[in-house]
Amino acid sequence: MGNVVDEFITRVYDVVRTNPSGEVADYIPELAAVAPDGFGIAVATGDGHVYEVGDTSVPFTIQSISKPFTYALALADHGVDAVAEKIDVEPSGEPFNEISLDPDTERPRNPMINAGAITAASLVQGANPAEQFERIRALYSRCAGRNLGLDEAVYRSEARTGHRNRAIGYMLRSFGVITDDPDDAVDVYFRQCSIEVTCRDLALMAATLANNGVNPSTRDRVLNPALVERVLSVMTTCGMYDAAGEWVTEVGMPAKSGVGGGVLAVLPGQLGIAVYSPRLDRHGNSVRGVQACRELSRDLELHFLHVT
Ligand code: GLN
Repeated sequence: MGNVVDEFITRVYDVVRTNPSGEVADYIPELAAVAPDGFGIAVATGDGHVYEVGDTSVPFTIQSISKPFTYALALADHGVDAVAEKIDVEPSGEPFNEISLDPDTERPRNPMINAGAITAASLVQGANPAEQFERIRALYSRCAGRNLGLDEAVYRSEARTGHRNRAIGYMLRSFGVITDDPDDAVDVYFRQCSIEVTCRDLALMAATLANNGVNPSTRDRVLNPALVERVLSVMTTCGMYDAAGEWVTEVGMPAKSGVGGGVLAVLPGQLGIAVYSPRLDRHGNSVRGVQACRELSRDLELHFLHVT
């Protein structure tokens, strides 16, 4: 099995590497400063083994791949029903940073767009924002199996320029979705987006979701299975934003992208997959990340509706 996976990911790596399209995120200078052609693929199995090719130990910021994990923490803290009163689970078909609420329910449409993610961050328990963030950082670290830290430069830059996210925070506060200080919620969100990971870390985080909430490498039970199922459902319908339909059709795995260039995909019960490549498409999804997942899904027959 081992050699087969190595062969597959190396073949996909060689094919996808030739694709030069997309642009790195440049809404903050720190993100534009990355090596645009960095590229890595990592696949973690249910026994915790990680197959890797390319730039799998280059650090980058997790960005929106943080969203499913903070949502999981909010669910663990408050239960599914209480969180559902604040955040819906409907795909929005809108860009990730849309300043919107569902007009009927006056809730964010899902936890994968910024409005829902900032709400989820506000729901994480803690005596103050620093404690909330520490609980978030600790959860991601347990999923990755190592202690993750913050990229201070990206955080500071995001905090200085994130007016749109602040607008979303104030909108949430005015509708009573957030009940505390919106600046605190947005600050926790900026910090969670600025947590530094590698492609290998993301593969293990994906494998923890694939493994029903148990990190397959450390055997740590991080999340309970019922919550993981809900998180994976929302990733399936909303994880790739306004490209979610095409993703489900062509790749068929719960997934999440981030503007740092990461894509995380989960084959429940089996594999965690991560790709790193900073050039993005117009949805803010990694071009090579999407292509590599499409190739892997096709070659290894990973689409969840595929019948052998
Ligand atoms: N920090 C980014 C933002 O909120 C994350 C967006 C993303 O990765 N899609 O704008």
